[in-house]
Amino acid sequence: MSELAYPYEAPASQALFDRAAAVTPGGVNSPVRAFRAVGGTPRFMVSGTGPYLTDADGREYVDLVCSWGPMILGHAHPEVIAAVQEAVARGTSFGTPAEGEVALAEAMVERVAPLEEVRLVSSGTEATMSAIRLARGFTRRTKVIKFAGCYHGHVDSLLAAAGSGVATFALPDTPGVTGAQASDTIVLPYNDLEAVHAAFAAHPGEIACVITEASPGNMGVVPPLPGFNQGLKDACAANGALFVSDEVMTGFRTSRAGWYGVEGVVPDLMTFGKVMGGGFPAAAFGGRADVMAHLAPAGPVYQAGTLSGNPVATAAGLAQLRLLDDAAYETVNAVSQRIQGLVTEALSKEGVAHTLQNASNMFSVFFTDRPVTDYEDAKTQESFRFTAFFHSLLANGVYLPPSSFESWFVSTAHDERAVQRIADALPAAARAAAEATA
Ligand SMILES: *Cc1c(COP(=O)(O)O)cnc(C)c1O
Repeated sequence: MSELAYPYEAPASQALFDRAAAVTPGGVNSPVRAFRAVGGTPRFMVSGTGPYLTDADGREYVDLVCSWGPMILGHAHPEVIAAVQEAVARGTSFGTPAEGEVALAEAMVERVAPLEEVRLVSSGTEATMSAIRLARGFTRRTKVIKFAGCYHGHVDSLLAAAGSGVATFALPDTPGVTGAQASDTIVLPYNDLEAVHAAFAAHPGEIACVITEASPGNMGVVPPLPGFNQGLKDACAANGALFVSDEVMTGFRTSRAGWYGVEGVVPDLMTFGKVMGGGFPAAAFGGRADVMAHLAPAGPVYQAGTLSGNPVATAAGLAQLRLLDDAAYETVNAVSQRIQGLVTEALSKEGVAHTLQNASNMFSVFFTDRPVTDYEDAKTQESFRFTAFFHSLLANGVYLPPSSFESWFVSTAHDERAVQRIADALPAAARAAAEATA
């Protein structure tokens, strides 16, 4: 494939973006989609199949975003689509309990040992917000420790030094979160256990929980150093706080049992989203039965949702989880390894300083030659090189996350043909990264 097999302009997407901008702030419903970190016209997609997305201009891309993780079986997987069609035909929402939500909860509990009970919600944000409320209600304490660069959705109290969209736009914080909400949050550097011990010592009896991404993917992929998560768990146990592991991104992606399945550290509470919804709005929080028993209607901590456990969403999630057996994870891990190897090879060949980091099949490239262990490290990368790299790949039919602070995602559907397309597009992208100037 030649370097400019795809023309750079995207007139149909641009026309849609103009229409969108007239009725929606910034033209998008989630900030990173607007391409502000890389510039250019956001691609409006009209369909997805397997590893490919097709945009409004009729161009096909190998998708390395996979809807930010959920589409681990690729787009429009026939068995997931069939399950959704079957569910939809029986009605789209009942506002009553239904068997599908029980089956999905059972499937999750069966796969993740520390998950004794789960409550279904509709977004990862709702899951972490509810887990924090439950932790506070259970411990009768107010303060929460989180880590710089970890993103837990747009929960007010957790939008302090958060990663993802906020990192991309380099906002120190966001207007609209009150001082009171932020003042109960203690933000510490990631992978720094000393800082955690110091915070517990400085606030005896006040800290309700420590929340962390099980393995962060929202400042790029920055895995926990060996012993970090266990150290958090131990510090929480020693101080009467709960350890909340946010597996919204890693859950059912990094292994059959998520990051817990990779590392084996037992949290008190966990949060899920993305993969478990099969591309629909379904998320969850859960964990120790004695803690979950404090949730309404069993206990006093209120939490609810009109569309929680939606029958179509749970059917999609359940179908996806059923297809995610050990062989599926082997497939995703293998294709991820291959793509990681190709990226390293292309960038090395052009002499571009870079560090590729992974957590199972999640990975990302930092344009720096030093290992990245926290958010401060991540911010030292030469993001202007990513911009050039991104646009070259986009022009050649490979769709990367439009920010250097995001994980790349692959699926079981990324086959030989898709990998070959990436391999063909990489040399020009690496050259563009090498030639880029700040
Ligand atoms: C995506 C994400 C969230 C937020 O989930 P939404 O469904 O976007 O609200 C929370 N935590 C982590 C780790 C995430 O990756």
